[in-house]
Amino acid sequence: MDFHFTEEQQMIRDMSRKFVDEVIEPRAEEMEARGEYPYDIMDQMAELGMMGIPFPPECGGSGGDWVGMHLCIEEISRGDVTLGALLDVTTSVVGQELFVFGAPEQKEKWLVPIAKGKEIGAFGLTEPGAGSDAGATKTSAAREGNSWVINGAKQFITNIGLKNASIVIITARTKGSKPGEKDIINTFVVPRGAAGFTLGKKYDKMAWNHSATHECIFEDCRIPAGNFLGMEGKGFAQHLAVLETGRISIAAICVGLGRACLEKSLKYARERVQFGKPIFSFQAVSFKLSDMAMHIELSRNMYLKAAWLKDAGLPHTLEAAYAKLFASEMVEKAASDAFQIHGGYGFMNEYAVSRYYKACKILQIVEGTSEVQRMVIARNL
Ligand SMILES: Cc1cc2nc3c(=O)[nH]c(=O)nc-3n(C[C@H](O)[C@H](O)[C@H](O)COP(=O)(O)OP(=O)(O)OC[C@H]3O[C@@H](n4cnc5c(N)ncnc54)[C@H](O)[C@@H]3O)c2cc1C
Repeated sequence: MDFHFTEEQQMIRDMSRKFVDEVIEPRAEEMEARGEYPYDIMDQMAELGMMGIPFPPECGGSGGDWVGMHLCIEEISRGDVTLGALLDVTTSVVGQELFVFGAPEQKEKWLVPIAKGKEIGAFGLTEPGAGSDAGATKTSAAREGNSWVINGAKQFITNIGLKNASIVIITARTKGSKPGEKDIINTFVVPRGAAGFTLGKKYDKMAWNHSATHECIFEDCRIPAGNFLGMEGKGFAQHLAVLETGRISIAAICVGLGRACLEKSLKYARERVQFGKPIFSFQAVSFKLSDMAMHIELSRNMYLKAAWLKDAGLPHTLEAAYAKLFASEMVEKAASDAFQIHGGYGFMNEYAVSRYYKACKILQIVEGTSEVQRMVIARNL
């Protein structure tokens, strides 16, 4: 077994790490406080090719792999979780869905600009009545001549409020064509400017303030027949398939955030003196950091194994669920211990660990809650 990264993977990791140290980290606090999206940072990420790492050059990417993509997501999330989430959604979910299920002209039209980072993608599965039970979608799509007419709403949609968000890929229920035939779920690409497609106001969230999360509302929204994506009746399965990669990405985000907790806490524990000694010298403190480091390492190994299986074209449903579940629960403990190590200062907004504490919990919810991951694991035992 070979645990070495390729030269390209190392290059991606080092480039992303440097970018975080020089560009993201110094502005992370301000971005969260102002709640404004850092478009200049996103443009630089696009220039560095981060949105297209796993796609071939003809699709606008750099011909790398999913291990490299996830090393990048881990590093970026160490600086700012919402930028990690941007990459997860636009590349791991939307870009991949277009890459795997898109026709050549659909790839040319939507994937190429997304892989180049010129445009950003969003995906819409969740609805007011369809969260964990995502198959309960009520949004409908009816065929009328050369168009599909969409009605319904999708909620909590990441990225869609960005000014360069170009599309949202949604699931919608289509009536069976013959009498008595069941409804089927299909997938559609809805462009931002489509008539009848509006955004609800930006959600007021407890963290991830600058992430552009909105409700998507479709009222007789008419899109061309050519915006149908993939195979008839397989829309839900397509979405679930790409969400497996999304779960690896969430695990990588958790590892990045966990590392930020560890780095800040280690530095603080070595500097903060109580009872005449740095608090790091007390086992009750240093053991927290030992456990944090070990669980981060374990989570990294888990997401890398899942990404490696994906690159090898091997099944990875279980490994992606293990990684997402373990890493998201790991990071909640890491953020809590980081806060504890900082004492009262951990409660102050000027200390990054207060931001980490607020940002971590949602990672146990998005792209399948911890309970859903346990259901996936149980089904596959
Ligand atoms: C910041 C943010 C960004 C998001 N981005 C997107 C996005 O880009 N696209 C998108 O489509 N969605 C997105 N979501 C939605 C997210 O994926 C859902 O919130 C998540 O899937 C859970 O759905 P829900 O919130 O409706 O919770 P529910 O499904 O109502 O679950 C509530 C609780 O019940 C539990 N539960 C439900 N069913 C079961 C069961 N059978 N057994 C045991 N426990 C169960 C859940 O685990 C959870 O603890 C986002 C959400 C947030 C907050």
